[in-house]
Amino acid sequence: MNQATAISLEQHAYSAEATAFLARKPQLFIGNQWVDSSHGKTVVVEDPSSARTIGQIVDASAADIDRAVAAAREAFDDGRWSGMAPNKRERIINKLADLIEANAAELAELEAIDNGKPRSMALAGDIPMAVGHLRYMAGWSGKVGGEVMSPYTMPAGAVFNYTVKEPVGVCAQIVPWNFPLMMACQKLAPALAAGCTLVLKPAEQTSLTTLRLADLVAEAGFPAGVINIVTGLGETAGDYLVKHPDVDKVAFTGSTEIGKLIQRNATETLKHVTLELGGKSPVIVMPDADPAKVGRSAAGAIFVNSGQVCIAGSRLYAHRSIFDAVIEGMAEAAAATWIPRPSLDPKARMGPLVSREQFDRVTGYIEAGRKAGASVAFGGDAPTADGHYVNPTVLVDVHPDMSVVREEIFGPVVVAQRFDDIDDVARSANDTCFGLGASIWTNDLNTMHKLAARIKSGTVWGNCHAMLDSALPFGGYKQSGIGRELGREGIEAYLQTKTVIVKL
Ligand code: ADP
Repeated sequence: MNQATAISLEQHAYSAEATAFLARKPQLFIGNQWVDSSHGKTVVVEDPSSARTIGQIVDASAADIDRAVAAAREAFDDGRWSGMAPNKRERIINKLADLIEANAAELAELEAIDNGKPRSMALAGDIPMAVGHLRYMAGWSGKVGGEVMSPYTMPAGAVFNYTVKEPVGVCAQIVPWNFPLMMACQKLAPALAAGCTLVLKPAEQTSLTTLRLADLVAEAGFPAGVINIVTGLGETAGDYLVKHPDVDKVAFTGSTEIGKLIQRNATETLKHVTLELGGKSPVIVMPDADPAKVGRSAAGAIFVNSGQVCIAGSRLYAHRSIFDAVIEGMAEAAAATWIPRPSLDPKARMGPLVSREQFDRVTGYIEAGRKAGASVAFGGDAPTADGHYVNPTVLVDVHPDMSVVREEIFGPVVVAQRFDDIDDVARSANDTCFGLGASIWTNDLNTMHKLAARIKSGTVWGNCHAMLDSALPFGGYKQSGIGRELGREGIEAYLQTKTVIVKL
């Protein structure tokens, strides 16, 4: 029971479809077939809203990964996908998007059960974004190409030069647990549009929707071996996949720590690597902003998905003149909206954290902040329940050296600080090893653009936070990543350029 509000934290009943899916035998999806693992080891699946074990997935062995990579390799090398007419590839990718849309209710429920996010949020956010990424990238299938170029050191007519864009090959795609299906589709879509084949590994905490996606892959008409889905632990299955000599590119979304390890592990065979890593994104509120309105938005920027968002607005900088009013606005929004509830509760806007490990990490940070001298403006505790719920939390009286200010907490915890002028806040906002996102709240256009130019991050939002679009490149500065996903740059990350020079 959530004592503060007397809200029941008892998880609601699963649908018959979800129950049947959970009862399926744990298998891997390789070469368009459901196959058994070589060693039969499994990882338990837990519902974070109740902390109950609800099923099992395969913990893939090295032999399983070898098999999946071999299927992807064969499908790439014989050109069954890259050699297909682009309009046909586009149609098949769009068919997958249609099938996701047709199965949205079931996928949203599975996502809620597995990750802990509210079903309504999965249905309104994750699933449409997954569909949108596929449809947007499907359109690129027939729109990438090279160019005819004039040489510099040779007279015109002496040679004929052109470039072609070719797929990079077999991709290992490693996905985190915070937006499982959406992230899977964000990875799949550009690879497929570019003509690559792939082995995708969802996070061990949240593999259900990606496994359900595999059924739809077969139904959509992808040739065998184009999309292979393996489940298992990161440190074994993921590690082996990243090091596999037959993999040409690794695309990873996850923690900065594992991103660095993956970069090192991919070096042996010089794989292409794109990394989308952690963040500590500032929310900057200028003195002219409406504090109540921005307080509500700042609450959304950190509490959505229980703060388990790489672009969460986890550092709030509000001008001294309106600081207290912004915090008050956040507190009101937290009490009205961001009260933890079980993921299948129709009223839920914020669910539990994904796992006990994540709960311990987040509550550990709150404790470390307190010990270092931070004060809790509101929250700071967890409701008494079996699930991994943490109340929305704002920490004040923080200083720049505290771990709660410097490190990514990945929970519903924001550190709030005052500032005096634009130089002061630009310096503080950039005082981090991360550079993923930042938002600026002001009606003064001059200030908006001056500050946007000074913020060192891959995305800067004005009067909004965490807005993403399939057409707009997304990625990190500094230790928040390498490369861009989405937009034209997203597909370019799966292409390589061949230059052809013909002497005439
Ligand atoms: P978090 O710390 O938030 O759980 P991780 O970065 O550990 O996130 O995990 C993100 C993804 O990376 C998951 O799919 C996980 O299985 C995978 N992973 C974790 N460790 C490794 C590794 N050493 N090599 C490859 N993949 C890994």
